[in-house]
Amino acid sequence: MSSSHQRNEIMARLGIEQLPVLIAADPDDENTWEQLQQPAPMTQMMTVPGRKCPNCLAKGQTVWVIPGKCCPECGVPVND
Ligand SMILES: [Zn+2]
Repeated sequence: MSSSHQRNEIMARLGIEQLPVLIAADPDDENTWEQLQQPAPMTQMMTVPGRKCPNCLAKGQTVWVIPGKCCPECGVPVND
C-alpha cells in the first residue's frame, strides 16, 4: 500500500518534469516550427502568434515559440 503511494508521488514529480519535454517533442509542433521559420513575416502572423525565444535570440538564433510552450531548441519555457 505505502509503496504504491510512494510510486504515485514519484510519478507526479516525473509528470511535472516530463511535461515540457513531451510538448517539445510533439511532432505536430515540428511542422509548425518549420512553417514559422520560413522567411515570410506575414505568414507568421496569420498562422500562430509565436514569440521569439529570448534564450536563443541571445545566441543569435530566431526561434518561434507558442506562448506557454517550451522552446524546441533550448527547452526554455516561453510565456506571455
Ligand atoms: Zn530557445
